[in-house]
Amino acid sequence: MNHDSNRSMNSLTKQPLDLINNIGILKVCWEKFARYFEVELKEVKLREGYYVMDPVKAVELVDENTICVAAILGSTLNGEFEDVKQLNDLLIEKNKETGWDTPIHVDAASGGFIAPFLYPELEWDFRLPLVKSINVSGHKYGLVYAGIGWVIWRSKEDLPEELIFHINYLGADQPTFTLNFSKGSSQVIAQYYQLIRLGYEGYRNVMENCRENMIVLKEGLENTGRFNIVSKDDGVPLVAFSLKNNHSHNEFEVSDMLRRYGWIVPAYTMPADAQHITVLRVVIREDFSRTLAERLVNDIQKVLHELDALPSKFTANISVSGDHKEVEKNGTLVAKKTDLETQREITTIWRKFVLERKKTSGVC
Ligand SMILES: *Cc1c(COP(=O)(O)O)cnc(C)c1O
Repeated sequence: MNHDSNRSMNSLTKQPLDLINNIGILKVCWEKFARYFEVELKEVKLREGYYVMDPVKAVELVDENTICVAAILGSTLNGEFEDVKQLNDLLIEKNKETGWDTPIHVDAASGGFIAPFLYPELEWDFRLPLVKSINVSGHKYGLVYAGIGWVIWRSKEDLPEELIFHINYLGADQPTFTLNFSKGSSQVIAQYYQLIRLGYEGYRNVMENCRENMIVLKEGLENTGRFNIVSKDDGVPLVAFSLKNNHSHNEFEVSDMLRRYGWIVPAYTMPADAQHITVLRVVIREDFSRTLAERLVNDIQKVLHELDALPSKFTANISVSGDHKEVEKNGTLVAKKTDLETQREITTIWRKFVLERKKTSGVC
């Protein structure tokens, strides 16, 4: 991670090194790294409507112990690319002012196999002087089955020699710097095959196709009039969307109901400081066709219909005034109930609904 070997020897110097990132709840790999290597993570908080790392805020967090700023090319949350160029420019200034030498790592797990084909003009890689290393997952848009990822260093000097172990008992010198040791080569061969088989043009076609199907899905969802689209057109081909109105039924219910149609669409809340936003997310893979995109929109519409016909899982707006609660539905005062009464009523309605469904419907 670090081109300065004095500073990378964290456990020897016991300095509290830190790394800046906008990791969300999903980025276990960064948390693992931080824990194993005793590196303190500093996270840039998100805000509603802005779900990537703000380069200005990130650079503000940099101090003399910072080993690097990690930018994400293709947010797990909404597919958006972070502005690595702006980060690079701001960091050059800060380095100049302070005399530090803070570099950038780009986590291009998804974006590394997308940006070069769809947005070749976008500068996020070694064209920027402070980008010292990049990782990319072969098993995502590299189009290989699970279990392979790549990391590339800008130059030989950026990978400290003491991290490389030389083994010679297999007949020739083999340099190795992985954390684990023996590992099958099938994925490397599969990646090699895909690169040779598809070439630049092949990958570009696949990515363009994914993007087109993403647009079909996005527009279909927009046309229902029920969703806000939280992802961007430029970025990882995925659609992240939330309900415009999730008072009576929320995104988790949509996700649950979709399982009955054979779709597993995750719903999750955003990390701090946007944790009040819940999104559903569909990542468009190579094998997700236009027909499937249209079918998914259809099934989502059916789910919305079913949900509309159901009683609300939660009662509508509850406003607290003093000791008693007023339950409002569509703006009119319905009744005053205690929490317990409300919960009992919901349970009764749901139980009735579930029993009825068992009798009448064979869909599962
Ligand atoms: C998937 C992903 C990872 C993890 O990469 P693996 O190759 O699956 O280990 C890390 N960062 C981001 C942004 C990802 O999307």
